[in-house]
Amino acid sequence: MKNILDLGPGGGTGGLEELVSELGEKKFRAGQIFGWLAKGVTSFDEMSNLPAALRAKLREEWYIGQPSVVSEQRSADGTVKCLFEFADGARVESVFMKYSYGNSICISSQVGCRMGCSFCASTIEGKERDLTAGEMLGEVLAMRNHTGESINHVVIMGMGEPFDNYEEVSGFLRLINSPKGVNLSLRNITVSTCGIIPVIGRFAEDFPQVNLAVSLHAPNDEIRRRTMPVAKAYAYDELMRACREYTEKTHRRISFEYALINGVNDSRINAEELSGRLKGWLTHVNLIPLNEVDGRDYRTATGESVRAFKKVLEDNGIAVTVRRTLGSDIDAACGQLRQRKR
Ligand code: SAH
Repeated sequence: MKNILDLGPGGGTGGLEELVSELGEKKFRAGQIFGWLAKGVTSFDEMSNLPAALRAKLREEWYIGQPSVVSEQRSADGTVKCLFEFADGARVESVFMKYSYGNSICISSQVGCRMGCSFCASTIEGKERDLTAGEMLGEVLAMRNHTGESINHVVIMGMGEPFDNYEEVSGFLRLINSPKGVNLSLRNITVSTCGIIPVIGRFAEDFPQVNLAVSLHAPNDEIRRRTMPVAKAYAYDELMRACREYTEKTHRRISFEYALINGVNDSRINAEELSGRLKGWLTHVNLIPLNEVDGRDYRTATGESVRAFKKVLEDNGIAVTVRRTLGSDIDAACGQLRQRKR
């Protein structure tokens, strides 16, 4: 059986138009099916304007691959975190969050992760497999069905490294942006990478409207390599160069994520060095007090050091925010819920 959410509306290899032609139906049926899928239906029988014979043919080989909800946690602030399970038993997390500017969902791009960042729960057991484009779309649709809320923003900041699964992530961006489907503006989507340089260049070409966030977490190579193995493959200076090229090409502001870890990267000297790196260019720094993860020794930065760090950046004219810790009363850090349910 194959997941029909993986198919785009158009013709060409693997599209819905090609499928309906193979099944002896008119092309316009493809648009109808794509529209129903985007509405969030979970069975072909709900596609009431399709001939019964076509629905039966679809059922023979295809299924609608929305994941099921294995468990959920709801926070007093409206955050809903779901542990989703796909047909093969693979589990990922997604988080629904309410902001003043709209509702946002944070989705996973892989089952587990192989990047090995030492503060992150998603990577503890490595990567199990990639998610497909349709499975990522399935996360959004299943969360929308589960919460009954609209979704205005998508961030690919859950489990996994999106640039380690770029083909499928690109496919997802095209699916969710498609006017006949969910029709979400690319400007309302953010992709977060740990800094896989060659893909940053491709992404700038392919999706200049999508927002890019880069997980920096350190002011220099030495500290970055301590927590992020990817920093051994791509030097800090090269990452900075790739980010500058990105902003020059797209005229978009990059967002740098910086998880503040007590005694590792949160000193005044670290803040000054980071400021020296970023001064004078189009960036935004998102400070995230570390979410402590079971079985990892790191401690979160104190409120005092978070404030001091922020002030140094501000004094250097760098746009900086401290991420609102939504869902801090639940296991909001990436991969934590999945770990607990093993
Ligand atoms: N692989 C992508 C996206 C996944 S995680 C990336 O690295 O950007 C989204 C963000 O959460 C990343 O910045 C990641 O470094 C950060 N993160 C992971 N574990 C965390 C933790 N325990 N506390 C705070 N931030 C964490």
